[in-house]
Amino acid sequence: MENTKGIFDFHTHTFLSDGEYGPMETAQRARSRGYVLIGFSDHVDFGTFEDTINKLKKAVEAINRSEMGIKAMVGVEITHVPPSQIREMVQLCRETGAQYTIVHGETPIEPVIKGTNLAAIEAGADILAHPGFITEVEARLAAENGVFLEISARKKQMIANAHVIEMARRSGAPFLVNSDAHEDAHLLTEETLKQLLKAFDIKEEELIANIKEFLKKVSYL
Ligand SMILES: [Zn+2]
Ligand SMILES: [Zn+2]
Repeated sequence: MENTKGIFDFHTHTFLSDGEYGPMETAQRARSRGYVLIGFSDHVDFGTFEDTINKLKKAVEAINRSEMGIKAMVGVEITHVPPSQIREMVQLCRETGAQYTIVHGETPIEPVIKGTNLAAIEAGADILAHPGFITEVEARLAAENGVFLEISARKKQMIANAHVIEMARRSGAPFLVNSDAHEDAHLLTEETLKQLLKAFDIKEEELIANIKEFLKKVSYL
């Protein structure tokens, strides 16, 4: 994956959790919007991680040896697992074959348990999704632990993006822009991505550098 032209998105959902389509249909719809790499990150907890990861692995393997023209990765979004159990969940997901782990962070629009952001960062999850009003101390720890903070393209998550990017800049924490797509209309396009970068004053080269760093971190490059 030396070529970084096209859209990279590490946070999407299939109907293995609450998305609209199966993994292969999601990949095909993403491809038609200009994606070159899609990461599936269905919601998991202690009850569902094994099934979900095993099913995603099969779909990802098929996509990657196909003529679809898009590459796929197996992720997970650890969702509403209490802070005291996040480290164990991250470990179990990795052992089962998740190529990276996302933790569903303390978005201001859901009753996520306080302490989830910090627990995800301390556990060394790869991405902290929609971290809401993350503190500067937490962002510094994310920088130390190489945890990527997420700038979300979902409209309902937009309210905290300006804060998240400011915390990333102040602390030096890496960041990614992801769609958190659950359906076709949520997937990114070159156009919507450009608008988002402009709105939060992020340079394209800056995003590409972070994507490369992420791929290296999760041993994909
Ligand atoms: Zn989430
Ligand atoms: Zn999500």
